[in-house]
Amino acid sequence: MSTRQELADHLRVFVDLGISGCSRDQAWRQREENPAAVAHASAGDDWTDDMAGDAAETPVAEMGTDRAVALAALREEIGDCTRCALHALGRHQVVFGVGNPDADLMFVGEAPGETEDREGEPFVGEAGQLLTKIIEAIGLSRADVYIANIVKCRPPNNRNPEPPEVETCSPFLLRQIDVVRPKVVVALGKFAAHTLLGTDAPISRLRGRLHEYRHGIRIMPTYHPAYLLPHRSPEKKREVWEDMKIVRALLADSH
Ligand code: SF4
Repeated sequence: MSTRQELADHLRVFVDLGISGCSRDQAWRQREENPAAVAHASAGDDWTDDMAGDAAETPVAEMGTDRAVALAALREEIGDCTRCALHALGRHQVVFGVGNPDADLMFVGEAPGETEDREGEPFVGEAGQLLTKIIEAIGLSRADVYIANIVKCRPPNNRNPEPPEVETCSPFLLRQIDVVRPKVVVALGKFAAHTLLGTDAPISRLRGRLHEYRHGIRIMPTYHPAYLLPHRSPEKKREVWEDMKIVRALLADSH
């Protein structure tokens, strides 16, 4: 049996077991018509007040089996990667990406932090909790979207990724985007925006409008959630919310 077939069979078992994020239920596709989600989305105008709100019932993500298989194959290809310097600078594991392989919306950050390095999942620390609120504020859940980073290993002391590290690792991210084929990618922070858009313009000038990417995918650059934390620039949450409303409208229009 081929590796691809084995993976497909493995994933089908997950679906049959009803493991979270692996369902053939089509209901999630009607989420824009879900009154709970819509109500929650309007309440999102207040998310800057640190609202988590009453979470709308989490839509169950349908598994795009082919895409899940392709992502699993890419993860396998990356392996215990030693392709750039970050492999030897204290990382515990490669943090690949998480979420719905069939997502309409994808978030791309910079690099794993300490919590992400420990848990093996992007955006699970303090900034990640804020990202979850941002996602919920537009009527979705983490299970609906796909989340990844420009580089997949934690830079030491949370320093910025170096250009050779970005150059070596970002092709994996581009392949993740090509597999998932979301309608919109939200580029969180300047590293994500600069890498995906091939520009070095300030994030303050890039945010606030959609940019064309390949395959008809649109990119919305916005501030990184870590920048919005209380000790940094929480007043920028309002601008992020303006950006997310544009994303929400585009996703609603495309259904
Ligand atoms: S950051 Fe990317 S290229 Fe560098 S070691 Fe990790 S997975 Fe490999």
